Amino acid sequence: MKYCRFQTSNGPQYGEVVDRAGVSWIERLLPPFPEDPWVKLSADAFQPVPVASARLLAPVVPSKIVCIGRNYREHAAELGNEVPKEPLLFLKAPSSVIGPGDAIRIPAISQRVDFEGELAVVIGERISRLGPDEDPLPYIRGYTIVNDVTARDLQKSDGQWSRAKGFDTFCPMGPIVTDEIDPAAGIGLETRLNGVAKQQGTTRDLIFDIGALLRHITAAMTLLPGDVIPTGTPAGVAPMKAGDVVEVSIEGIGALTNPIVA
Ligand code: MG
Repeated sequence: MKYCRFQTSNGPQYGEVVDRAGVSWIERLLPPFPEDPWVKLSADAFQPVPVASARLLAPVVPSKIVCIGRNYREHAAELGNEVPKEPLLFLKAPSSVIGPGDAIRIPAISQRVDFEGELAVVIGERISRLGPDEDPLPYIRGYTIVNDVTARDLQKSDGQWSRAKGFDTFCPMGPIVTDEIDPAAGIGLETRLNGVAKQQGTTRDLIFDIGALLRHITAAMTLLPGDVIPTGTPAGVAPMKAGDVVEVSIEGIGALTNPIVA
């Protein structure tokens, strides 16, 4: 199933997304997910609307965002880093999440803010200590897109990454969540800045696959429904400035577009 979270006159709602004759529609309202305190399912009759005409919100309300650093060989190399021997984890602040179309704000204290287009796993079931032979799929609600926006200069000078990755607006997410793709089969990802392709990758090149990531993370911390795991970015990261528009697109999910403001 594919779903989105969108604004209505009855507040935010979840909607099932279906494709008909090349157009994506929000077909019906869905009951809210347990982690989301903001949505009360509307009892009003709902008329399908094209996704393109809806005001989309970030599709998930995560308790935490557990990111993976350097999970593509060529991206590790472009920043002069070794490929890690085990997954490199860091947390992004849930308060940094914004939706499709929302503006990414460049903080005055950073001279270099980069995009990082990433496939993100959305957790559907509480998961702790995933076993070595255990299938992660039953715990996965689906997949979405995250732009892991990063103040590259502060990431370097701080030594640890909480501030550089955690500014308000630094986690654009969406436009939808889908369980209809298989990242193990190789899903194409592209990031465009002002329409120019900058990152082109495939999930086939992930150093650590999604099962390995979930095993590594849940050996340390319990993942809860709605938690989001951005799986790392391919090569081609580059800075953005006010006035730019950044778009991350992933096959089977769609495009996540955000303007940049100062
Ligand atoms: Mg990243």
